[in-house]
Amino acid sequence: MVDTLPVSFGYENIKRVIIPENELKARIAEVGKCISLEYSEKPLLLIAILKGSFIFLADLCREITVPCEVEFMRSSSYVGNSTVSTGNPKDIFGIDKDISKYHVLLVEDIVDTGKTLVRVTEQLKKLNPLSLKVCTLLDKPERREVDFSPDFALFTVPDVFVVGYGLDFDEKYRNLPYIAEVSL
Ligand code: 5GP
Ligand code: MG
Repeated sequence: MVDTLPVSFGYENIKRVIIPENELKARIAEVGKCISLEYSEKPLLLIAILKGSFIFLADLCREITVPCEVEFMRSSSYVGNSTVSTGNPKDIFGIDKDISKYHVLLVEDIVDTGKTLVRVTEQLKKLNPLSLKVCTLLDKPERREVDFSPDFALFTVPDVFVVGYGLDFDEKYRNLPYIAEVSL
């Protein structure tokens, strides 16, 4: 239990803060600058994978200083309060643009086994984007089961289940302003 942070009733099983709010903010500003340099003069489309990346996307896009558009898609392989992927993922594309006119940057919360992003990038490549890269807030390389390296990974985290800043456990904790480990 963290007692120096405003963790209130219902959040007793937050074990420790792994990435505090100020570090998230500083690193996102830094990567926002890199992305702005790389995509200046290029039609940029950010595609966020819901739900986990919604806060990251909101903060990242405000650190990008070149024009960009935003779309969302769903991909889910967890059921209810499980912390283990079901291995039976469902992707729902809600993209109503011709992505062949854009340089696409996929925005993800965390790369774990890597299976989600291998699958999603394969599907998106079929739609012929001008280029396709992946920006993930968190990377858990110890857990990788398939060969996948994100183009931008803001933080590496250990092999523990993390929540906060958009990431959930059983749909809760997404509103924490930091990344924390939960005791399950
Ligand atoms: P992968 O296909 O890489 O194994 O899993 C990717 C998805 O699993 C992530 O987008 C995320 O939704 C979920 N995930 C993996 N590790 C964690 C974690 O530590 N915490 C949370 N909340 N979700 C995770
Ligand atoms: Mg995700």
